[in-house]
Amino acid sequence: MPRNDTQTPLLELRLPSPPRLGAVDDDGFADGDPIRKRWYHYLPLILAIAMMLAPHPSLIMIFVNYYYRVHDAPLRGLLHMAIVYLLTFLAFSSLIVVLARDPGPVVGDKAHGEESGERADGEEESFLEALLAPPEGEEAHGPGKWCKKCNAPKPERAHHCGSCGRCVLRMDHHCMWLGGRCIGHRTHASFVHFLFCITALAAYVAILCSSVVYWAFTHPLAIDETTPIHAISLAFYGMVIGMVIGSFLGYHIYLITTNQTTLESLSPFMLLRHIPPLPDNADSRRLSNPPLEHELSFEQRMLVRDAARYIRLYDIGWRRNWAQVFGWSRPWGWLYRLAIGGSCTGDGRNFPRNPRADEMLSRLAAGLVSADKNR
Ligand SMILES: [Zn+2]
Ligand SMILES: [Zn+2]
Repeated sequence: MPRNDTQTPLLELRLPSPPRLGAVDDDGFADGDPIRKRWYHYLPLILAIAMMLAPHPSLIMIFVNYYYRVHDAPLRGLLHMAIVYLLTFLAFSSLIVVLARDPGPVVGDKAHGEESGERADGEEESFLEALLAPPEGEEAHGPGKWCKKCNAPKPERAHHCGSCGRCVLRMDHHCMWLGGRCIGHRTHASFVHFLFCITALAAYVAILCSSVVYWAFTHPLAIDETTPIHAISLAFYGMVIGMVIGSFLGYHIYLITTNQTTLESLSPFMLLRHIPPLPDNADSRRLSNPPLEHELSFEQRMLVRDAARYIRLYDIGWRRNWAQVFGWSRPWGWLYRLAIGGSCTGDGRNFPRNPRADEMLSRLAAGLVSADKNR
C-alpha cells in the first residue's frame, strides 16, 4: 500500500486548530518564522556572545603587560592582537549571517502567513490543498514529499522543524545556541565557518597564553602576579572551548566530506523513504511499500542500521561535496568564503545522487523482503 494513503488523505475534515504558542499575534514575526521567538529563546545566544567577548579584557591585559611592559615588543603584541581580533570579527560576521539569513525557505511568504494563524477558512483551504496535493502514489517512492503541517511540497532533503514550525531546505539541525534557528541549505556554510573561527580563536588563545604561563614560571620575578593568573585561566578556557567546538567542527567536516546532514547522519531509518518499490510478494504483507520504521522486526532494523553506515545517498566525491556547500564557482568566491563561509550552491531542492546508492538500496530492499519471510 502506498505510504501516502496512510499519511495524507486526499480529503479530510479539518476543525480550526487551537492557536499555537507564539503564533497568535501577527506582530513581531520575522520573515519566514511562523513560530515567534520569545525573549528566552535568545538567552543561549546571549550567553554564547558573552563567552566570545569575556576573554578580551584579560587578553588586552596580557598583551599590555607581557608584550609591552615586560618584553618591550609592542609590534609583536599588536600582531597577536590583530590575529585575535580578525578571528573574532570573522566569527561574528558568519554568526550574523546565520542569524539574519533564512536557512532555506520552502514556501513563499504568503504560505507562511497562512500557517501563522491568519487562515480563517481552514476547512476550505484544506479541501483546496488536498486537491492540489500530488496524486496519490506519485511521490510515494520519491524523495520529495508533502508536508502536512505546512501544507506545502517538501523537497528532497527538506525537513519540518517542530521548533521553528516550518520546513527548511536541506535542514541540518535546529540550533538552540544560535537564536533558536535552523541550520539549513543557505546557512550551513556560514555555520561551519563560525565553528572554524571559534576553534581557531580558542586554539590560538590557548597556545599564546600557554607560552606566557611557561615564561612566567621560568622568570618568576620578571612579571607581576596577576598576568600569569589571567594567562592560566585563558589557556584552560581556550583548551576547553577548542576541544568542544573543535570536535563539533570535526563532525561537520566529516558530514560535508560524505555529503550528509546531521539529521541524515543520526537517522538511519530515513533511508527507508528512498528504497525502491518492494517486489510484490505474498509473504511480505507486513511491510508497506516503502516500509515504515515501526513495521520492521529487530533483524530488519539492524539491516537498515548497517546499510545506513555505508549508503551515502548524495556522496559524489569529496571535492564536489565540499563545492556543494561552500560554492567554489562564485565570482570573488575566495573573499566571500573567507568573510562568511560562502553559501551552498544549487537551489536546495535537487541534489545529484551517488550513482552507486541505487544499487545498494535495491540490495537493502531485497534484504528486508527476505528477512520478512523469516519472521
Ligand atoms: Zn513543514
Ligand atoms: Zn528550527
